[in-house]
Amino acid sequence: FIPLGITAGLVIFAIAYGLTRHRFSARAELLHALRKSQLFLLYQPIFELPTNTCIGAEALLRWRHEDGAVVSPDRFIPVAEDSGLIQLVTRRVMELVCKDLTPFLRRNPDFHLSINLSPQDLQSPDTVGQIEQMIRTIGPGAGKFVIEATERGLLEQESTLAVVNAIRALGVEVAIDDFGTGYSSLAYLTTYPFDILKIDKSFTCTACTDSVTSQVALHIIELANTLGMRTLVEGIETPEQAELFRSKGVNYGQGYLFGQPMTAAELVNFVPLHSTP
Ligand code: C2E
Ligand code: CA
Ligand code: CA
Ligand code: CA
Repeated sequence: FIPLGITAGLVIFAIAYGLTRHRFSARAELLHALRKSQLFLLYQPIFELPTNTCIGAEALLRWRHEDGAVVSPDRFIPVAEDSGLIQLVTRRVMELVCKDLTPFLRRNPDFHLSINLSPQDLQSPDTVGQIEQMIRTIGPGAGKFVIEATERGLLEQESTLAVVNAIRALGVEVAIDDFGTGYSSLAYLTTYPFDILKIDKSFTCTACTDSVTSQVALHIIELANTLGMRTLVEGIETPEQAELFRSKGVNYGQGYLFGQPMTAAELVNFVPLHSTP
């Protein structure tokens, strides 16, 4: 017979130990992935809605595990963010863009290449230097870069605003990602100088069937336009959705209708076929 207090203590210790160990091993695995070059990028096309042409792509990270299984970023980006590895991961993303697309971006100076940044990236001035390095490697005037920031990353901090401003000073555009899923969206819109607003895919599928959602989406689009931002709708899967948002004056669309995330080689073949010369 063990007294209740000790039992509870042991259970809590065991759980805490297990969690810490799990976190340590997840961090070690991710470091291993970085060392062994197991991270790679896929690129999802971005279309200009009025002209129906591919004008850019978003870089989306993947991890090919030892056993060949491909791990989704929703599973390992949070590990990277919680274990202090995210800035190494972001640096790797930029190196991969250079490795994958330098000749392509030199041939296509107007192509928009979007990169996702995490909260910590936006709080660190080092990020600005890394972006500058990427632009220098690819060649000034080659490609147009866009940084995607999520609302959860944009704490109202002076340091974040300074980083965002420094990124824009490099001629890189800044997009607010997943708009409509956070809590303080409206405050962020007036605090940060965003160039592009990405409407979250949770609006997209319901907008066609639900008039309230469609009204909300319409007002977000109007608000963005009033504030001088261009708009992009994520998660477009059907021609009806594309038509709806095209008719509302949305600038860009992204989703399975236009193209799945694909390898750099696939993207290079995809683009000439889908844009007017
Ligand atoms: P996100 O930035 O919102 O990226 C869009 C996600 O929606 C991608 O998932 C994409 O594959 C998926 N998607 C695209 N079109 C459709 C569609 O028509 N329907 C549906 N249902 N889904 C669609 P993915 O690639 O699994 O990425 C998940 C999230 O992981 C991203 O969400 C982003 O927040 C994060 N992420 C990905 N790559 C990076 C990275 O390099 N750095 C950082 N910090 N985060 C990343
Ligand atoms: Ca994104
Ligand atoms: Ca998004
Ligand atoms: Ca997302």
